[in-house]
Amino acid sequence: MTVTSPAPAAIAALHTGLYIDGRWGPAASGATFAVTNPATGALLTHVADGGIDDARRALDSASRQQARWAATPPRTRSEILYRAYDLIVERADEIAAVMTAEMGKPLAEARGEVAYGAEFFRWFAEEAVRIGGDHTTTGDGANRIVVSKQPVGPCILITPWNFPLAMGTRKIGPAIAAGCTMVFKPAELTPLTALLLAAILAEAGLPDGVLNMVTTSDPAAVVGEWMSSGAARKVSFTGSTEVGKTLLRQAAGTVMRTSMELGGNAPFIVCADADLDRAVDGLMVAKMRNMGQACTAANRIFVHRNVIDEFTGKLAEQMKALVVGDGSVAGTQVGPLVEAAAVDKVTTLVDDALGRGARVMTGGVRPDGPGHFYPPTVLTDVHPDSELMRTEIFGPVAALTPFGSTESDGIDEVLTLANDTPWGLVGYAYTQDVDRADRLSDALQVGMVGINTGLVSNPAAPFGGVKESGLGREGGRLGIEEFLDVKYVARPIRGAAG
Ligand code: NAD
Repeated sequence: MTVTSPAPAAIAALHTGLYIDGRWGPAASGATFAVTNPATGALLTHVADGGIDDARRALDSASRQQARWAATPPRTRSEILYRAYDLIVERADEIAAVMTAEMGKPLAEARGEVAYGAEFFRWFAEEAVRIGGDHTTTGDGANRIVVSKQPVGPCILITPWNFPLAMGTRKIGPAIAAGCTMVFKPAELTPLTALLLAAILAEAGLPDGVLNMVTTSDPAAVVGEWMSSGAARKVSFTGSTEVGKTLLRQAAGTVMRTSMELGGNAPFIVCADADLDRAVDGLMVAKMRNMGQACTAANRIFVHRNVIDEFTGKLAEQMKALVVGDGSVAGTQVGPLVEAAAVDKVTTLVDDALGRGARVMTGGVRPDGPGHFYPPTVLTDVHPDSELMRTEIFGPVAALTPFGSTESDGIDEVLTLANDTPWGLVGYAYTQDVDRADRLSDALQVGMVGINTGLVSNPAAPFGGVKESGLGREGGRLGIEEFLDVKYVARPIRGAAG
């Protein structure tokens, strides 16, 4: 159902064209596509719908600027990032309002993402002036080995809709710091936050052509053009494993560097000795951040049999108390899902679990429109063969499965269950026993582990997964390395023996 609601003033003031070579303009075809508000169905605005000609122009611009940008002093690149950080912080309310309007998360969460997203610029402003190398001699003492780092070259950046600001800054920050130029394609469901970000970077003094942005309703065409051109030297992608695999195959064509931040299927393990209140609070974050639409979302919740009844009761109470509604309304804690198809998917997954014997403790009934809402839901006795154990739920549904017994801590059993997935992004475990925590941390097949916490994301930490959750790391000390090539220079030492 479509209802009208006034778009925030910030949206009316946005540039809605393509941003290429420092200029805003329409798509070559003149086409546009609509952006709507998932809480109401209201049309927010139209943005330029870029095609292959626009993609080519954007990558030409990035290629032309690469050598000059690489030669820019690191301090200059750092200062641009600091200015962009300051501008994002100054304009936090405006950015949050745009984000909430286009993707639905409550304003308080949107402000949280703005703060988190801005931090990547500050972090990489600090990293830009700390790019190091190495200097040693060969074993026989006859040669110097001088190792330096150089920007990889023009990069393709592709981001999903669920964190429209932070997924952009997590890539653009290190690319700027390293001296790479970019072509950037934000998700078609949430282009507005990205448009605002590009405008902020221009205001911060980023030279023309360093960042080129193409919004499009045909990502395969635009990105396919970039991937096959031979001019781009790196692709950094955040999104589904399925699209990531397509890009990996395409990257093989030009042997391009790749960073892949893909899907997850996080286990959340509550041991018998856990502090249950702390575990419930942690699960509320790990499950409900972004209405469950996060790659880090707790997807499979394994609770020791001795404590599952008490844990489920406490969890259901907190889930039931959440205020669901339009994220732009004060007090809303749970917004809509991003689109109707997302609600269809969650409904099908819940029905499948119920058909296999799960029980609903709260929620589980899809409301009527308008908006793409699904209620906070707790399911218990979820059978391990249920479809929602094998796929990202991407919705506000907590699926609980018991493990262990009165005689056993069940750690071997739960590790087998937790690792029985092709994904390996993050795992969470609650226990007060340090040896058990070490055992779980060591054996979980994931890139990140949260022990007694439901939140692992931090600009200072290396974010990323193993198995089909991806390749490479974003943030932390490793984040900039993804945008740097290593060069080794051999120089004989005059007069050395040998
Ligand atoms: P998606 O893969 O459908 O889309 C991601 C991006 O890829 C979008 O910009 C989209 O336009 C683009 N795209 C789609 N088809 C393409 C194609 N054929 N060629 C090139 N680009 C294409 O994912 P989504 O639905 O936007 O995001 C949700 C997914 O992202 C989930 O699987 C989630 O786990 C994952 N995610 C991962 C991380 C992480 O850091 N690991 C973070 C956030 C989201």
